[in-house]
Amino acid sequence: MRYYIETYGCVANKVDSEIIMAALKSAGFERVNRAEDADLIILNTCAVKEKTIAHMLSRIRRLPKDGNKFVVTGCLANVLPDKIRELAPNAEIAGPREWNKLSKILGVPLPEKKAGVPQIRTEPNLASVVISEGCTGTCTYCATKFARKYITSFRPGDIVRSVREAVEGGRKEIRLTSQDTGAYGIDIGTNLVELLGEILDSVEGEYRVRVGMMNVDHAVRLIDEGLLDVFEDPRIYKFFHVPVQSGNDRILRLMQRNYSVDDFREVVRKIRRRFPLASVATDIIVGFPTETWEEFLESAQLIEELKIDVLNISRYSAIPGTVAARMKGQVSSNEKKRRSKYITEAHLRVGKEWNEQYVGKTYKTLLIERGHHGAVIGRTEHYKPVVVQGEELGEFRDIYITEALPLFLRGKTE
Ligand code: SF4
Repeated sequence: MRYYIETYGCVANKVDSEIIMAALKSAGFERVNRAEDADLIILNTCAVKEKTIAHMLSRIRRLPKDGNKFVVTGCLANVLPDKIRELAPNAEIAGPREWNKLSKILGVPLPEKKAGVPQIRTEPNLASVVISEGCTGTCTYCATKFARKYITSFRPGDIVRSVREAVEGGRKEIRLTSQDTGAYGIDIGTNLVELLGEILDSVEGEYRVRVGMMNVDHAVRLIDEGLLDVFEDPRIYKFFHVPVQSGNDRILRLMQRNYSVDDFREVVRKIRRRFPLASVATDIIVGFPTETWEEFLESAQLIEELKIDVLNISRYSAIPGTVAARMKGQVSSNEKKRRSKYITEAHLRVGKEWNEQYVGKTYKTLLIERGHHGAVIGRTEHYKPVVVQGEELGEFRDIYITEALPLFLRGKTE
């Protein structure tokens, strides 16, 4: 049986596809690169934004559906199942946490857990490892929750096995991921700090760990539980992705984000007090229902005040079925565009100023991705992207930083 798979969305979704591919391979399925040549088509969808949903629906329309089994999985399977059925009446639909159902649809056994199981890794130098699925949040704008549900943490032993297998397989960068790494272990009596300690104690070799996104409420707790101590280990990137979403407390309450702007300030200040050059990434949604210009400005000012060097900006989009989609005071798309442009410019200024600090210094850098024109992109210990000419991928090199740009650095080998 020949299968074709198309994967969209976050790292967790990519790992889902890697595990599904391993299960299909061990059942004798052959992967093909053209949907037209496949007996089985799997579309692993994302439903994070309106634009993404529109793209998923157009893939459902366009992918060939005659004479093959057409399977839709991923978050859209739980967010808009009726719409999928309308566009593809014969589609088999199962969400990311309905693998019993998906296993029956595919006719192959799928694992109950997503750590410590066979996975066909698609990147040569890095490995993504899922540590838990779901979260503890009830954010009013989010549809991911419909698919990923409440948190289920995977056993530390299974996660350590996945990390060790990846490192022994030559991967130098391990990306620990989930909808909220900060909530890890809350359901099994452990936490992210203990997990990181266990990985570092049990897995030998030269590698680096990138800890994925954690929510502010859990970051506040974890810092008190020793998070910054375990981050002292040189194998952990001094990179913290903590989505704040808004710089205004009234909007955070409407979003049902369980923290205040001051909590976020405290987290960033404690991180930077311990690691002055740590890279801090955050996410901001502009144009949440009823957000005034003044409230939006508080988000832009927060980025400047705390010198947030990595920023993911989203224009609020109303996803069917979410509480926020039914709220009054929806902001116009022109206004969202104006706010997105304003905060992007503010961030580029902050990014340039922050990155200047690295110039003239040398950092042990992992060369991890291919860039343009023969360049490679490395990551310093702060997970700062550095463009370097003519070097081998997958190696650590001492890189002297020659130039700072708003979103990355340029450097050369010493
Ligand atoms: S924490 Fe909030 S935004 Fe994140 S997946 Fe959970 S409900 Fe969605």
